[in-house]
Amino acid sequence: MELLKQRILKDGIVKPGGILKVDSFLNHCIDVGLYNEIGKEFRRLFDQNDITKILTIEASGIGIACVTAQYFNVPVVFAKKSISKNLDGDLLVTQVKSFTKGTVYDVIVSKRFLNSSDNVLIIDDFLANGMALQGLIDLCNKSGAQVAGAGIVIEKAFQNGGKIIRDMGIRVESLARIASMDANKVVFED
Ligand code: 5GP
Repeated sequence: MELLKQRILKDGIVKPGGILKVDSFLNHCIDVGLYNEIGKEFRRLFDQNDITKILTIEASGIGIACVTAQYFNVPVVFAKKSISKNLDGDLLVTQVKSFTKGTVYDVIVSKRFLNSSDNVLIIDDFLANGMALQGLIDLCNKSGAQVAGAGIVIEKAFQNGGKIIRDMGIRVESLARIASMDANKVVFED
């Protein structure tokens, strides 16, 4: 998606440790117009898939998922990273290793909101080592829901997450695929 790539080149900041900071437009300060274009593009890519639900993970996936969901006219379910008093009843739980923090945490969805009648589009901001995405796929598998595919805003294609997920037979569509990056330059695939 050219608009997104240009924005990454203009405002993205590459930090040591292979982290791309996009907090001025994507995941802290949000350019809603850009989110809108992202939502439209995901709709175009998954137009034929009869999506019944969009699944994401808190926190930065939620905004993107909500804007995207308006183009599919389906609910968003977001996986929670901690058990709160609001979470009751039967739960689907899996573990995810955080790329940015290096810790392992539980990811939880109520069984009421994901079940075998669902055809799920998973949405997230980044795909790096694929841990978050694998966790969300595992929650779908545990619920019996079908995974139609994953829509990713930025894939760091020099990490192995994309290959792992595609090798599982899951369709992954990334709007910007980064082949390499350092402090001076971000290079995209294609
Ligand atoms: P993975 O589980 O694929 O290794 O990492 C995915 C998650 O880590 C994303 O949901 C995102 O929050 C975070 N993440 C991974 N790489 C980056 C990055 O370069 N920049 C930012 N801002 N977040 C990242």
